[in-house]
Amino acid sequence: MNNLTPAELVYVKKACEITRDALNYCEKQIKPGMTTKQLDNLVEKFIIESGGYPASKGYEGFPGATCMSVNDMVVHGIPSDEVVLKEGDIISVDIVVRYKGYHGDAARTFAVGKISEDKQKLMDVTRECFFEGVKNLKVGHRLGELSHAIQTYAESHGYSVVRELVGHGIGKEMHEPPNVPNYGRVTDGPIVTENACLAIEPMINMGKKEVWLVRDGWGVVTRDGKCSAHYENTVHVTKDGIEIWTL
Ligand code: MG
Repeated sequence: MNNLTPAELVYVKKACEITRDALNYCEKQIKPGMTTKQLDNLVEKFIIESGGYPASKGYEGFPGATCMSVNDMVVHGIPSDEVVLKEGDIISVDIVVRYKGYHGDAARTFAVGKISEDKQKLMDVTRECFFEGVKNLKVGHRLGELSHAIQTYAESHGYSVVRELVGHGIGKEMHEPPNVPNYGRVTDGPIVTENACLAIEPMINMGKKEVWLVRDGWGVVTRDGKCSAHYENTVHVTKDGIEIWTL
């Protein structure tokens, strides 16, 4: 598990604060009729003016500053002039900010105008999955306790957990060990250690767990076409508890 120095943690925390502010800014900009590319451009400008850099841009060739995934798209949607937000859609926005070489990572699913009760419940349960997981994240315990709690909570609501994508350590790199799955047994994974920074990110499907990769090589969609939601924060593990830095 990663173990950051106090000096490094200062930069990760600042990157997390810009990420949080960018998500709050993004939520206020969302309106039916706008494209995901327009929204991405606004958020990119906000991040740069805040002193950060949108780390997704150019990451393994990704063209957007953020990931914008609408309805049945789980994650990694490329912001597009072709994708127009409509009243009743849900949009998952995933933002990674780099600040002085360190990273913060968070995601939210937002409503576009008025949405159905079904979609609202999916968003609520996905957020609750994160907090159920974090209740079970403790120094000296297996990481699998968090993973198991997320899966159990999602499935108790009749939803399913994506297997192909997982959370991760974060710090100098956007993705560092360990993997942080949203499913598994309590006996799985490494022992949780102090001063780790982890991006914990339940991706919860309304229907079945299976996903496809779309033709652009990035976007991941549900196979059954039902909606998916995403809720992510970067957390810092301390012996006294978990600090959620992107909230
Ligand atoms: Mg993320």
